[in-house]
Amino acid sequence: MSADVRTLPWLKAEPAVVTAPPPLRVGHTSLGTPIWLESLGPIAPRPRVLLVAGQHGDEPEGPAALRALLEQDRVELRRLGLGIAWIAEANPDGLLRGTRATPEGIDLNRDHATLASPEARVLHRVFATFAPDVVLDLHGYPSRRAAALARGWLLDDDVLLARATHPAVVDEPGASSRTLEEVVDDLSLEGVAAGEYRLFQAAGRVRLSTLGTDDLRNAVALRYGAETWLVEGRHPRPDEGPEERRRLVDAQRRALRAILRRVAARPRPSPARRAAPRPGEEIAVAASWARRSRPLPVTVRDVRSGHRHRVDLEGVLGEVEPTRRVVLPAAYAVPASQRGLTGPLLRQGFSFTAGRDYRADGGDGAADDDLVFPVDQPGGAALAVWLERASARADGAHRLDAPGA
Ligand SMILES: [Zn+2]
Repeated sequence: MSADVRTLPWLKAEPAVVTAPPPLRVGHTSLGTPIWLESLGPIAPRPRVLLVAGQHGDEPEGPAALRALLEQDRVELRRLGLGIAWIAEANPDGLLRGTRATPEGIDLNRDHATLASPEARVLHRVFATFAPDVVLDLHGYPSRRAAALARGWLLDDDVLLARATHPAVVDEPGASSRTLEEVVDDLSLEGVAAGEYRLFQAAGRVRLSTLGTDDLRNAVALRYGAETWLVEGRHPRPDEGPEERRRLVDAQRRALRAILRRVAARPRPSPARRAAPRPGEEIAVAASWARRSRPLPVTVRDVRSGHRHRVDLEGVLGEVEPTRRVVLPAAYAVPASQRGLTGPLLRQGFSFTAGRDYRADGGDGAADDDLVFPVDQPGGAALAVWLERASARADGAHRLDAPGA
C-alpha cells in the first residue's frame, strides 16, 4: 500500500467546500405536510436526474437507500457531472403512518394520469419545471407472493428493475432492455442479485411490468419524454436480522449508483424532452403481452431447503406487442362538460385553445365550448393514448384533422 493519497485524482479535484442549495419546498399534502425537493448542487447540468422515493408509505426501503446513497456516494455523485435532485418523501403522510396510500386513500403510483392527489400534482410540477432526462422511482417489494409460493419459492432478488413499457414511449430499439441488462451485470459484479421486475399473477403466469399509464414510469416517460426506471429493493423478511436489513438497503443504494454511473458514461446524453409529435405520425395506443423468446432469470429461495438459487423462467409474458396504432390528428376536441377528460389534461398542463378560436382558424368539427388540444406540443402523443378510447364515444373527445387536410 504505497499509493500516496495526495496523488489520487478524486481527492485533488474535489473542491474544499461544496455547498448544497437549501431544500426547496415544492408543495404540501392535504394535511399541510411540506414536500421537499433537494439537490446536490446547481441543477443546470444535463443530463438531469430526479430520484423520487417514498410514493408508497409502507416501503421505507426506498427513502433509506436514497439516504445511504447521499451519505456514502456524495463525492462520486458530484464527480459524475449530472444535475441530480431528489424528493426523498413523495408521500410524507403515508410514510409517517406506514400506509401505502395518501391520507385520502389514493395510491400515488396509480395517480400519474389523473393527478387526483395533491402529492401527484406536486410531483408533476417538479417534472414540468425541473425537466429531468432520467427519473428513478424507488420502491420496495415483498418476498412472499402466493403465485411464487405455489411453486415453492420465496422471491429473493435483492433489487428489481424496470423501464417504461408503454408502446407509445419512443426509445432506441432495444436500448431499454440492453441498458437494464448492463446494470444487472454491473450489480452482479458487486455481489448484488438484481433482476427484471415481474409480476407473478394469480393464474400462475408471470409477466414483466405493466402497460398502464397511471404509474410513474409509463406516465412520466409518455408525458415528459424522460427515461424512467423503477428501482425496487426487497423488503426484509421477519426472520432476517439487522445485518441482512443493512445489506438490502446497501443493494438498492448500489443499484441507484450503477444506473447513475451508466447515465453519466453515455457519450451523448439523451435530450431532455422528445420533440413534439407531428400530425400524421403513427402512435401505438394499445398493446398486449406476448411470450418472450428467452427465459427470465429470477433469484428465489426454496421454501423447503432454504437454498437461494437462480431459476430460468420459461414462457414469461415479456414482449410488448402493439395492438392498435392511430395516425395522429391535428388536435383533439373535448366538450368542456366532460370534466372527467378535461380535468386530468388541464392538471397535466397541456396547452389548449377554445373551440370557437380553432374553428376561426379554418379547422373543422370543434364546437364553441370544446377545449381543443393540439397534438403538436411536448408530450402530445400522450393525448392520443389518453383520448383515443374516449374518441370512440359520441359524447367523448373527437379527432380534428388539420385545416385543409
Ligand atoms: Zn411501491
